[in-house]
Amino acid sequence: MTFVTADALLDRFRLAGALLEGHFRLTSGLHSSGYLQSALVLQHPREAEACGIAIAERVRRFGAQAVLSPALGGIVIGQEVGRALGVRAIFAERQDGTLTMRRGFTLSPGEKVLVVEDVVTTGGSTRETIEVARAAGADVVAAAAIIDRGGGQQQIDVPFHALATVSLPTYTPDSCPLCAAGDPVIKPGSRSV
Ligand SMILES: [Zn+2]
Repeated sequence: MTFVTADALLDRFRLAGALLEGHFRLTSGLHSSGYLQSALVLQHPREAEACGIAIAERVRRFGAQAVLSPALGGIVIGQEVGRALGVRAIFAERQDGTLTMRRGFTLSPGEKVLVVEDVVTTGGSTRETIEVARAAGADVVAAAAIIDRGGGQQQIDVPFHALATVSLPTYTPDSCPLCAAGDPVIKPGSRSV
């Protein structure tokens, strides 16, 4: 199985029930009527593997020597991209609100790093992960995600590749029409979604 087209990938998200409609608070703090729960696709190892291979094909030319992902969302796809590229895959996680490498993970000065996430909206956590790698002296050669749900609006200062780009509406909390309608907001991952 390969996801050669963005449409095929998005169909797979729909089939897995991973394209949710409601009122969500995203990691970025923005609110949205749509949410992509990539874990529902990635729970199937062969689909996670296919996504990893597809991303690897797009970024192989950058010669990354390691993949760095933000926990938790980026861990599974980071592992699969690392497998497809034949390089190690490590992750950064939050400690007291700050993204940091723990568990003895290190990057060497000048080591070429690819930053991988599952879904990117504003690119905030990808930028934060890039900074973690740079603070270790590594050379971030590119970033990648399964889906860019910000419609290509993310601001990332290295080459960025997503398998699919979609534009789902996002709102600041004070301009959110769903909040204005009194609809309770859900933080995905915290409960049943
Ligand atoms: Zn809202």
